[in-house]
Amino acid sequence: TQRFIWPMAQFGQIINMYQRAHASSSRIFGLMDEPSRIVEDPDADELVVDEGEVVYDDVTFGYDEEETIVEDVSFHVEGGETLALVGPTGAGKSTVLKLLLRMYDVDEGAITIDGQDLRDVTIPSLRQNIGYVSQDTFLFYGSVAENVAYGTFGATREEVVEAAKAAEAHEFIENLPEGYDTEVGERGVKLSGGQRQRISIARAILKDPEILVLDEATSDVDTETEMLIQRSLDQLTENRTTFSIAHRLSTIKDADQIVVLEDGRIVERGSHEDLLANDDLYAHLWGVQAGEIDELPEEFIERAQQ
Ligand code: ADP
Repeated sequence: TQRFIWPMAQFGQIINMYQRAHASSSRIFGLMDEPSRIVEDPDADELVVDEGEVVYDDVTFGYDEEETIVEDVSFHVEGGETLALVGPTGAGKSTVLKLLLRMYDVDEGAITIDGQDLRDVTIPSLRQNIGYVSQDTFLFYGSVAENVAYGTFGATREEVVEAAKAAEAHEFIENLPEGYDTEVGERGVKLSGGQRQRISIARAILKDPEILVLDEATSDVDTETEMLIQRSLDQLTENRTTFSIAHRLSTIKDADQIVVLEDGRIVERGSHEDLLANDDLYAHLWGVQAGEIDELPEEFIERAQQ
């Protein structure tokens, strides 16, 4: 009877793999708990990215009608440039970037990539062109190699290893019980936040998108790992349009533009030097992180709570 059971079991496995890939596509972009309201235009075209220029034009958005979360946000990022979003927790930084991945549609205004409105392009072509790196990257149950290759069709083992090396992940992967074939994810070997982040960097390197979204979680990694991660990120972001949410300001001080959000609005923008000279919220956040002042002055805390 074994022989008859086999094909069915394999069929089941294929379905599982499909479901797994499908589920993880949502999870990779953090969509899991957020039922999508997005409807694709039947006439949508494929997004064609050339320079990777991204424009937010007076973007306003709220998760529900009662509350506006992002208000009148405008910026212009040239292809290859880096824009960093800074601001207190709850200011709307992640929301601004969820709109770029079109997890939600803007209520007012528009977002364009190389002149194409996000609402006019197919969702798979949009997400294919955007890499997402974070420490909470979802790893599905499968080998490390499969996890790195996720989102890239037909990647060879060599390419996977190449990407892992560039992401400073090769060494720890080689030290796992079965190297690149070690099963990870919910039922597999548990990886630390720093290791998951490097897997997601390797995944982005392999995918090679024009646009990157980096959501730097408050990391619990040691200084050496942090240096390795920073080095691989510097390599990854070079010549790509990059959006970065940073909690440690030291990692974004070289960004081409820094946008400071407070309560969904842009309150300051400029380079690190511009913003220090401004002597407002950014300069004081920097002062705290650089150890120059002990704590954020009361006026800023009150402002953030309003
Ligand atoms: P930040 O990234 O700056 O910490 P977020 O964009 O995560 O800020 O959150 C901005 C505001 O939007 C917060 O008040 C948060 O509670 C709210 N928010 C975030 N995600 C959702 C959601 N899926 N549904 C409803 N409200 C949300």
